[in-house]
Amino acid sequence: MKWEENVRKVVPYVPGEQPNRPGMIKLNTNECPYPPAPGVKKVLKEFDYEKLRLYPDTQSTALVEALAEYYGVKKEQVFAGVGSDDVLAMAFLTFFNSEKPILFPDITYSFYDVWAELFKIPYKVLPLNEDFHIVPDDYKVENGGVIFPSPNAPTGVLESMETIEEIIKANQDVVVIVDEAYIDFGGQSALPLLEKYENLLVVQTFSKSRAMAGSRIGFAIGNEKLISYLNDAKFSFNSYTMDSLTIQIGAAAVKDGAYFKETTDKVIRTREWTKKELKNLGFSFQDSQSNFIFAEHKEKSAEDIFNYLKTKDIFVRYFKKPRIDNYLRISIGTDKEMETLIKELSEYLK
Ligand SMILES: *Cc1c(COP(=O)(O)O)cnc(C)c1O
Repeated sequence: MKWEENVRKVVPYVPGEQPNRPGMIKLNTNECPYPPAPGVKKVLKEFDYEKLRLYPDTQSTALVEALAEYYGVKKEQVFAGVGSDDVLAMAFLTFFNSEKPILFPDITYSFYDVWAELFKIPYKVLPLNEDFHIVPDDYKVENGGVIFPSPNAPTGVLESMETIEEIIKANQDVVVIVDEAYIDFGGQSALPLLEKYENLLVVQTFSKSRAMAGSRIGFAIGNEKLISYLNDAKFSFNSYTMDSLTIQIGAAAVKDGAYFKETTDKVIRTREWTKKELKNLGFSFQDSQSNFIFAEHKEKSAEDIFNYLKTKDIFVRYFKKPRIDNYLRISIGTDKEMETLIKELSEYLK
C-alpha cells in the first residue's frame, strides 16, 4: 500500500517472557526475588484514591527530592522517568543528534540499537574483548555519543572506574551515558565522576535492586544543564508520565536505605553461592557483579539446557545471537529457588 511508504518501520525490542504460573521459578528478567521496602506497602494502603482525580506532579518532586538526598546531589541534577527504558529513550532523543555514529558494545542491552533505529541515529557497535570487557581505545574515535552499561547486560561484567573515566575523558565533546541498572549488586557507581565531567549521565532503575519492576521507575543523575535539556525534551513529549501513586511509593522505597542494603546483600550472597555450584557442575562465566550469571557449559548446549529447564518450569534467558548463543543468563532468585535450579541442572548433566 502506498501509505506504508511513509510509515516509521522498526523491529521492536523483545522483552523476556513473563509467564506466571503458581510454583514456577522465574529467573529470566533479573527481577528481585524479594518484595519492595515495607514503606511502599504502607503508602499503598493509605493512599487516598480520590487523589487520582488530579493530574500528577509533573516534576515528580517527592521522588526527585528523595533521590537527590540519597545520592547527595542537587534536585536539579535528577531526572525521573517511567522505568530507565523511558529515561534512556529520552536521553537518546535529547543527546544523540549528531550525524556521527553513537558507540556501544556489540554484546549489550538490546534496546540500544532499537532506539537508534527508532530515532534514526547512526550507530557503530564495538566488539568486547574475549573476556567480555570493553576495549577503551576503541572509543577514541569521532562519534556522536557513547552509551554502555556497567555492569553490562547480559554478561554481568563490571568495568573498572579507570576504564569508565578513560572513555569519558576521551569523549568530552559528546554525552557519555553509563547505564547502571545493576550497580547496586557490588559495583562502584560512576556518580563521583560527575564532579569532573559535565558530559556524563548516569542512569539507574528501581526494577532490579529496588524490587519494583512493576512500578516502572528509572532515573538519571547528571550535570544540571544536562538534566534541564532532558526535562525540555520530556515536556515536549508527555509531561505527565509518572502517576501520583508511583511518585509516592518510589520516594518511600528510596528512604529505606537499611532494607535496600539488606535485600541487595542477600542477592549478592546467593549469587556467590550459585557461582560455586555452577562451577562444580562444569559451567564457566566471567565474574558477575550483577544479579544474574551469564554462563556456558563445557559439554551441553545452552539451548538444550534452556529447553530442559523449561520442562521443569524454570525460566532462564537464552539469546540466539552471535558470540553468546551458547550462554544462559540466569537471574539470582531466593536461596530455595537457586537450590532447585542447581538440583535440576545436576540431574540433567549427570
Ligand atoms: C533492565 C535494564 C534496563 C531497563 O530497566 P527498566 O527500568 O525496567 O526500564 C535498562 N538497562 C539495562 C542494562 C537493563 O538490564
